[in-house]
Amino acid sequence: MNSKKLFEEAKKFMPGGVNSPVRAFEPYPFFVERGRGCFIYDIDGNSYIDYCLAYGPLILGHAHPSVVAAVYKQAEKGTTYGTPTEKELKLAKFVVDKVPCAEMVRFVNSGTEATMSAIRLARAFTGKEKIVKFEGAYHGAHDYVLVKPGSGATTLPDSVGIPKETTKNTILCTYNDEESVINAIENHDVAAVLVEPVMGNIGCIKPKKGYLKFLRKITKENDILLIFDEVITGFRLAEGGAQEYYGVTPDLVTLGKVLGGGLPIGALAGKKEIMENIAPSGDVYQAGTFNGNPMTMSAGLATLKHLDKKFYKELNKKGKYLTEGINDIVEDVGIGYLSSVGSMFQIYFTEGKVLNHEDAKKSNVKVFNKYFKTLLKEGVFVPPSQFECCFISDAHDYKILDNTLEKIETSLKKLK
Ligand code: PLP
Repeated sequence: MNSKKLFEEAKKFMPGGVNSPVRAFEPYPFFVERGRGCFIYDIDGNSYIDYCLAYGPLILGHAHPSVVAAVYKQAEKGTTYGTPTEKELKLAKFVVDKVPCAEMVRFVNSGTEATMSAIRLARAFTGKEKIVKFEGAYHGAHDYVLVKPGSGATTLPDSVGIPKETTKNTILCTYNDEESVINAIENHDVAAVLVEPVMGNIGCIKPKKGYLKFLRKITKENDILLIFDEVITGFRLAEGGAQEYYGVTPDLVTLGKVLGGGLPIGALAGKKEIMENIAPSGDVYQAGTFNGNPMTMSAGLATLKHLDKKFYKELNKKGKYLTEGINDIVEDVGIGYLSSVGSMFQIYFTEGKVLNHEDAKKSNVKVFNKYFKTLLKEGVFVPPSQFECCFISDAHDYKILDNTLEKIETSLKKLK
């Protein structure tokens, strides 16, 4: 069997042949045989330097020996019990120790569940119903937030099947724009402002200087909770995520991806007086058969033990090296616009800066698709969509980064 044949067959058994929309790229996605370090290998005999990294979780690269050992050791003792383990407590203490706003944590199984629960909690805590979200931000695949979302849904009209009654409580604002937030707050009784501190689902868009501080100030002044969705940026930009990186502390944070060390996870954390409202200590219902399961906790703990200040200094240094290199290439070749922060980056095919959803959508997606395919042929795998973000792992060494720069240069030149 090869990837092409498997995909044909998969389409008969799974909608679109995949279990998450962005995975289905043209003409067919490669089927993976294994991953190791910064490489991913397909069943057709090809290997790729991986900058998709499963859309963010694999900060140590694929199959890191200490994560594999921890998962193996736990599996031998049982995979899930439905009753507490010390590992949950250890991971919760780790989150509280590292993430500035975190005083208590609830582990769930996906970022989707984390944001859904954070919104419910914010509504219960404030007694208000409206939520501010930003155009192009993606907070998972649940009803409250699938209004002008990013990620795989960027190019679709809003998903059908969602009651208007639900989304009427979601107020859209423009990222990096003060005016739209001021208007939303003046005209609606807002419970929470939900923001990806760095937009990672419409490519990679940084907050302009002072923007997160502005959100902090205006929410505080209006008794509105500020929720940072750090499913991507948590344990990615710094030990304490974007809140440490930018020095702005929200009331609640949602986490996922890196925290689970490559196994399914989501988490919701924040101030004790808010978090204590979650069941069973409070009345905001939240539950899950696999919440805090020992397999994920083991992978998370095995990953997080590597993530100290020195780790992020080195990772972000690699990010700087690669993105400065890409920037030089983009300028030399005269095509593309690079946007990056820490170990996150994306190239847009547009003139001028990308500060928000509208700017990002001006990018020429046809050119991006050609760039993606050429790069794949060169042996580099980036997410197959303009509206996703690329990631660097600890396993990408400088030789690999240099090699990547050559391949990016070749691919961009072919677009001319
Ligand atoms: N929030 C953000 C910022 C994300 O990037 C994602 C997923 O990419 C989610 C929430 C949803 O997480 P999950 O896919 O684990 O449900």
